[in-house]
Amino acid sequence: MRYMEISKLQRLLDLLRQQGELHSPVLGDDGVTRFELLPPGKLPDLAAIRTQLPPKKYLLHPQETILTYQADAGYRVPLATVPAMILFGLHPCDLAGISYLDRIFLGDEPDQLYLSRRAALTLIGVSCTPDEFCSCRLYPSPLEAWYDLFFQQSVDGIAVSIGSPRGAELMKILDDVMEERELLLPEDTRCFFGRKIPLPPESELDQGLPEWQVLAGHCIGCGACSVCCPTCSCFDVLEFGGLDGSSAERLRRWDNCLFRSHAEVAGGMSFQKDRAQRFRYRYRHKYRGFGQVKGVPGCTGCGRCRAFCPAGLDLRALAGKLEGDAS
Ligand code: SF4
Ligand code: SF4
Repeated sequence: MRYMEISKLQRLLDLLRQQGELHSPVLGDDGVTRFELLPPGKLPDLAAIRTQLPPKKYLLHPQETILTYQADAGYRVPLATVPAMILFGLHPCDLAGISYLDRIFLGDEPDQLYLSRRAALTLIGVSCTPDEFCSCRLYPSPLEAWYDLFFQQSVDGIAVSIGSPRGAELMKILDDVMEERELLLPEDTRCFFGRKIPLPPESELDQGLPEWQVLAGHCIGCGACSVCCPTCSCFDVLEFGGLDGSSAERLRRWDNCLFRSHAEVAGGMSFQKDRAQRFRYRYRHKYRGFGQVKGVPGCTGCGRCRAFCPAGLDLRALAGKLEGDAS
């Protein structure tokens, strides 16, 4: 087994930095842990169970231009110029979140902005210990927690696994800080991902459940649960035209299915008029999937929606009732 002593972490980070921009969970002065550029000399916050925002922000920017128009040049799709970037410290739930986004944005017609950012990313996972908000153990996921390298922490040091050809190449560069050793490892939380799980048959009967009204009655519609979810990827499309008609821009911006405006269409009509409907819609997306991810549960169990919901809402009891659980 490839092994690294924890005392060699700083050296490892220096070697990784030579391969691209190194980003990892960093504890800010405000007490919040975020994925951000890791400055030389600083250690990543590997003790944090979760960052406030998931790594999706690297692949889908909160707001970005997706099309421009100039009268003399016509329509242009902007191309992302993306430096090689290494994300270090991804937990299995966030790795699985990226594999879910890959299914959506790298399908038959890949999204070019997503594709170029994804191609520039090297993913290095790190093991974790689930806390009271996590649900990975309760609802094992069919999503793969793909990685290039994975670092499993133990009391004796770190065991390293290779998950891709890119990871194998990188491992050669990291050889200086690695050795071969037998280790006793704690439970590997990657085991909750990539499982074949039969979903219960989809039922329309849940429409009348009183739980939707109860949850909606407590929800303040702030949208934090979608913003912080590693698999929520709905966006709104906005167009702005120059007043003289010679230029225009199309933007996409993170949207949120708990916002009233999310399902509004022309004429002020809405497909999800009341919050209970919107709550059911979010639930079904997270636990049943739709579109090209129909039948693929989109909850990776990261626990962010529970940890950061100002109303303290938790869908686990309802999921246990509708989906069953593996506990
Ligand atoms: S629904 Fe909640 S627990 Fe599941 S992946 Fe999204 S934020 Fe994490
Ligand atoms: S974070 Fe909580 S209160 Fe805010 S929209 Fe989500 S469920 Fe509602």
